Amino acid sequence: MNYRHGFHAGNHADVLKHVVLLALLEALMRKDAPFFVLDTHAGRGRYLLQGGQAGRTAEAATGILRLAGAKKPPAVIARYLQAVAADNPVDALLVYPGSPLLTAQAMRAQDRLAACELQPEEAAALKDLFARDARVAVHARDGYDAVRALLPPRVDGVRIARGLVLVDPPYEAQDEEYPRVARAVREALERWPQATCAIWYPIKQRRSLQPFFRKLEAIPARSLLLAELLVRPDDSPLRLNGSGMAILNPPWKLDEAIAPALPFLQQKLGETGAATRLEWLKRDVG
Ligand code: SAM
Repeated sequence: MNYRHGFHAGNHADVLKHVVLLALLEALMRKDAPFFVLDTHAGRGRYLLQGGQAGRTAEAATGILRLAGAKKPPAVIARYLQAVAADNPVDALLVYPGSPLLTAQAMRAQDRLAACELQPEEAAALKDLFARDARVAVHARDGYDAVRALLPPRVDGVRIARGLVLVDPPYEAQDEEYPRVARAVREALERWPQATCAIWYPIKQRRSLQPFFRKLEAIPARSLLLAELLVRPDDSPLRLNGSGMAILNPPWKLDEAIAPALPFLQQKLGETGAATRLEWLKRDVG
């Protein structure tokens, strides 16, 4: 486990993932009933953009830092920029919030987050971050095992019907990770069929993802939506040319909420040959 998210915080892939995450949370908040979020690969929750790991790679310079001050962004982007700004001083971007912090910021008193992180130092930082937030449980454990241990979710013995499973692994050993992701999501939906599952995936060469998509299509879910942002052509197996979110059982009209964001991100973050995709691989017509 060499991966540290600090080297990549705020890059184009984080921007896409977190814009979609906030759109999903917004949909869950349309009802007063509580929701539960399982973040299987949570990271440390908060990253310094100046110096440290992020400073060494400067990936945020072609991600979040290009969006700061954007004029008239689509609503889902505006919400994302407000959420990032909430962790920073006025007129400066020093810190980037990770998925568990963005989730906790968006949640209400009745909602709950379980955040899993396997790497001990990252997990310790995450525990410190949420030490005073009783809505958040940090688990220093394998996020795939947590699907079995924590789902379906219960709070004080009462089952929570609605919610989200976010699966955002590092894909260090890709041959092993894709089947593990598909197995975990299948199991999550067997245990908690009402849930939405959102999986982040890297795009180097798109065609290599086809077997993964076939596996996701075979999972018994009502619907499957892909949202992708390629910042350059997907012609190199060595570079992160883009990324996507595969969303099983997305909430009603999620596609309409995300649609204006993708061309906006393409224009702001893309190079020559950039592209986007918003496509249903499976759609509930009932
Ligand atoms: N979701 C975070 C965000 O958006 O801010 C970033 C997560 S990062 C891409 C992946 C994280 O998963 C790393 O912090 C890594 O240490 C952790 N990790 C790797 N394998 C894991 C596993 N099996 N279970 C839980 N965490 C794992």
